[in-house]
Amino acid sequence: MLRGGKAILATLLAALAAWPAPGAAQTTGPAKTVRAYLLLRDGGQVQGVLLEWSDAQFVVQVGRERREVPIEQVQPVSVYMTRRKVMDLSRAETHLALGRYCLENALPDHARREFDQAVRLDASLAKQVEELLASTPASAPRDSTAAPAPTGKGAASPAPATRKYIPVTEAQIAANHKLVEGMAEKARAFARNLHRVETDHFLIYSTWGPSDDKPLMETCEKMYAGLCRQFDIPVKENIWAGKYPIFVFQEPEQFRRWCDEVVQGGVPDAAGYCCQRSDGFSYIVMNRSPTKEAFYELLIHEATHAFMARYVSNVALPRWLNEGLADYMAGELVPGCSAGKRHVRAAKEARKLGGSIARIFQEVQLDVFDYGVAQGLVRLLIARDRAAFVRLVTRLKEGAASEEALKETYKLTHEQLEQLWWRAVRSGS
Ligand SMILES: [Zn+2]
Repeated sequence: MLRGGKAILATLLAALAAWPAPGAAQTTGPAKTVRAYLLLRDGGQVQGVLLEWSDAQFVVQVGRERREVPIEQVQPVSVYMTRRKVMDLSRAETHLALGRYCLENALPDHARREFDQAVRLDASLAKQVEELLASTPASAPRDSTAAPAPTGKGAASPAPATRKYIPVTEAQIAANHKLVEGMAEKARAFARNLHRVETDHFLIYSTWGPSDDKPLMETCEKMYAGLCRQFDIPVKENIWAGKYPIFVFQEPEQFRRWCDEVVQGGVPDAAGYCCQRSDGFSYIVMNRSPTKEAFYELLIHEATHAFMARYVSNVALPRWLNEGLADYMAGELVPGCSAGKRHVRAAKEARKLGGSIARIFQEVQLDVFDYGVAQGLVRLLIARDRAAFVRLVTRLKEGAASEEALKETYKLTHEQLEQLWWRAVRSGS
C-alpha cells in the first residue's frame, strides 16, 4: 500500500469464540467482529462480516444483505481458514476437529499440522490421530496448481492442495474490462491523448508520448515475470482477473481530475496508488514522478501489492512482509532506484541507534526506516531459503498468523528473526 494512502484491503480480526463440538447442531456467532472471505467452489467469493456459523453453513452480512452460505459451496481451504479464525485454538479438541475436516476434504498437510497441535496439547489423543491418519485414502485429490512439495523434514507428506492464485470466471473478466474501458472513457474528457496499449498481462492507458509505450510495456512484462519467478508461477499463466489495468498520467492536473471525476476519491496528492476493491477489482494509477526511476519504483511496489492480493487468496499479508516484499521487488527490478538501497540505509541507522525493531511485527504505520528494515527482513528470509519463503507467504495467505507461519516454515519466532537481522546488520552483510 502507499504510505498514508488508501488501504482498501480489510484487516482481519481473529476472534476466540468457541467452535461447537463436532456434530453439534448448534449455531454460534463470533464474540468479536470477524471478516469472512469465503472462496466458493464455483470461483465466486462472499465477503462480509461473519454473523453465525454451524457445521452446515456460514451466515455473512454482505452490505445490507444477510447471506446464508452452505458449507458444501465453499472451498475446503476457505472453510478451514474461516473456522480457524473463530475457534478456540487453545483446545486440543479444536485441532482434532479441524484436522478431521481437512483430512476428509483433501487437505492432508493442513490435517497433519492440526493433528500435531492436538497431540501437543493432549498426548492422550495420539492413538485416535493415528487411527484417523491410517484410515485416509492413499491418494487424496489435488489441485493441478498445487505448490511444490516441501523439502527437508516432513518431505514425505503430500503437497498442500493449495491453488496458486484466485480463480476467475469469463464473466468476471468481461465485467472488469468493461469497467476499465468505462473509466478510461471518463478520463478522456480531461486527457484527450489517453491511449491504450496492451501486453500479454496488462492494459496500459497512458498520456505519455507514444515513444514511451514500448519501455512501459516491456517494464510491466519484466515485472510480471519477476513476480512469477519469485512465487513459482509459470509466466505463461495469468494470475490477474483478465488483463491488469494501469493508468499513467503525465500531468498532475489529469491525475487530480481522475481522483475527483472518475473515482470520486483516490489519493489526489500521491505519486500513484493501487486500488483494490472488496469485490476483487483492482487497478493502478500513476501520477508524474520526478524521475523515471522513481516512477518505475512506485509502479513495481504497487504492482507487487496487486499481485499478492491475487496470490492464493485475498487474505491480507502482515504489513511488515507486504511492504518489505514490495520494496524488495522494486529494488531488484529498477536499477539505481531508492528502494535498492533502503535496507542498507536502515541497517546503517540501526547500527548507530541500536534498540529494537519488534514494533515492526505489529500492524503499525511504517516510516521510511521501517520500510528499510522490512525489506531487510524479506531479503534475509529469501537468502536463507527461497522455497521456504514461498511456503511462508502461502501459509499467511491461507490465514495463518505472522509468527505461526514463520515458526512452521523457518522455525523462527519474531524475536529470533529480529536476532538474525541484528546479527546480519552488525556484521555488515
Ligand atoms: Zn506499499
